[in-house]
Amino acid sequence: MDRMLELIKILNKYSYDYYVLDSPTVSDAEYDVLYDELKKLEEDLGMILPDSPTHRIGGETLASFSEYKHKEKLYSLDKAKNIQEVEDFFHRLIKENGIIPEITIEHKFDGLTLSITYDKGIIKSAATRGDGVTGEDVTSQVKTIRSVPSSIPFKGYIEVQGEGIWMLSSFDEYNRNAEVQMKNPRNAAAGAIRNLDPKETAKRKLDFFAYNIGYHEGIEFPSQKSMRDFLFENGFLIGKEFNIVNDIEGAELVLNRIEQERNEQDFLIDGAVLKVNDVILRNHLGYTEKFPKWALAYKFKPIEVSTILKDVIWQVSRTSKLNPLAILEPVELMGVTIKRATLNNYDDILKKGVKIGSKVLVRRSNDVIPEIMGVYEHSADSKDIIPPQICPACGSKVRKEGAFYYCENTDGCAPKIISVIDHFAEKGAMDIEGLSEKTAEQLYNVLKIDSPDKLYEINYDDLLKIEGFKDKKARNLIDSINKSKSTTLPRFLYAIGIPNIGKKAARQLADKFKTLEKIQQANKEEITQIEEFGEIMADNIIEFFGQKNNNLLIDGLLNHGITFKEESVSSGPLLGKTVVLTGSLASLTRGQAQELIIANGGMISDSISKKINLVVAGEAAGSKLEKAKALGIQIIDEESFLKLISEN
Ligand code: NAD
Repeated sequence: MDRMLELIKILNKYSYDYYVLDSPTVSDAEYDVLYDELKKLEEDLGMILPDSPTHRIGGETLASFSEYKHKEKLYSLDKAKNIQEVEDFFHRLIKENGIIPEITIEHKFDGLTLSITYDKGIIKSAATRGDGVTGEDVTSQVKTIRSVPSSIPFKGYIEVQGEGIWMLSSFDEYNRNAEVQMKNPRNAAAGAIRNLDPKETAKRKLDFFAYNIGYHEGIEFPSQKSMRDFLFENGFLIGKEFNIVNDIEGAELVLNRIEQERNEQDFLIDGAVLKVNDVILRNHLGYTEKFPKWALAYKFKPIEVSTILKDVIWQVSRTSKLNPLAILEPVELMGVTIKRATLNNYDDILKKGVKIGSKVLVRRSNDVIPEIMGVYEHSADSKDIIPPQICPACGSKVRKEGAFYYCENTDGCAPKIISVIDHFAEKGAMDIEGLSEKTAEQLYNVLKIDSPDKLYEINYDDLLKIEGFKDKKARNLIDSINKSKSTTLPRFLYAIGIPNIGKKAARQLADKFKTLEKIQQANKEEITQIEEFGEIMADNIIEFFGQKNNNLLIDGLLNHGITFKEESVSSGPLLGKTVVLTGSLASLTRGQAQELIIANGGMISDSISKKINLVVAGEAAGSKLEKAKALGIQIIDEESFLKLISEN
């Protein structure tokens, strides 16, 4: 009972921060854990206290806004954290209905719920969800949203429900120019709409995704599909993701794919929503106090968590840049323990207001190193982060350039040299098997290997001087070093570390100029002719090849017998073809499939357009497949793809 009271108090405080102030003090994941604990306690004790959040929708309304009474109640959604709970939902439907009805699956947009009323074809009002019965009147704010039509062809009375969101590209753009950084597009969008000054809302350039019809007169909707068609025909922005499934397996495939593609959207989604398509059946299934019984939110695994920032260290990179690295109180996220996170640069630290000792929000998307997005709370002894005065690795002077700090000791700073060698040996670079970062460090410390060309001077006896190197390991490393001498021009260009030239750009450079000599002599005009090569990149390249030490390095490498073979991709079955991957493949990861496409002469694109030659469609492919069909692009399945490349 004590714990129940405590949980209610904590959760209600968090809800207030989240719904009323749009400024949460914990991550959703942490809120959800406490919420589930309370739900379980209520079930076990068979008791629900009147102020329990498990039976209330949303939060209070802000007194500064006029109240708005919804004609039809707006509900929250019941949640499933895993596929097992989705299956339970299907089993409940079977119990009620005898068979599994048609289920629609769409994105769960992570923004602010809005209900917009149109009368006689004109926008009449807009309100937040509030507690589901009474919301805040935000008509003037919502009218500034570009994707909210001010008039629609339908002339009856209708409430359109959807989500006010901040497109990530627009959010990033805003943050780039803002003095104070916003940490989360969801809360920032909610804050922008629930801002008393509509001019402020307009500045944020928000959008609105419509997904539901509430109260309506003069029209009937037999299904979710018919609502969606209506919304589209009346000029609303609707989500691209819309699937109809008839069984659990079908739902599972779609949900897995949507989760896999969650970072490919320009907006935040925190799950997918499953709904019974048929409206008559929905009415039969009905509602609980808080949720419709005919819908379910499948929540993705959280990618955000909060923790304490314990310290910031400045790491020297291979370009001599000092990168701030956050040391965190260890915390679990996506099945791994997070101990470190990036902070980009000092300006970023200032904009986000991050301090040592504060509670910060950490986000991990894909497999990249987690990033600190902003501060939840400072503590009484939070301390400012001080930029480096000297290089923490070698004690040399530090130079500030824009937002970045650099160690001035470009030739002698150990971590820089080690990362240059480590990068040179990388798989996508010279691919020297067995040369890890740790080995690079040992080679530098014991054998004084301080430049990639010196790798080719190492002999077997030298290696035996290093701890952990015995006959086999030494022989293997010598073999890999020798093997790397026969390489390709793109690999070499990437390996020598031209600033801003990644693998793709290195390949483009090699494709355009064909030889190293021609690249060394290329001028700005020629370089900027390459697609996506801007002036800065061209300057980087020209400056790199203009520096004496870089040319000495290149000469040294070539004198050790490095040669460039033609890339085998000059002949693959996908030569000259641009390929889009969509859906999930059974036998390959995305990365593996992409490597195969490149190795077979193809290029990869993320979006469907007329320029695309081929689409490889895996299971549960969605809107990209539809678009490809509409454009008449050749589509093959995984089996045909594997067959096609195996012919090479
Ligand atoms: P919810 O936001 O998780 O789900 C319900 C909402 O989903 C609906 O109101 C609707 O607006 C929206 N939605 C998005 N796409 C939709 C679609 N395609 N079809 C239908 N609806 C769609 O539920 P909730 O009750 O509003 O909020 C609870 C969640 O809020 C919690 O799970 C928690 O993660 C978060 N929360 C966090 C804190 C915090 O302190 N971090 C506090 C309170 C709540």
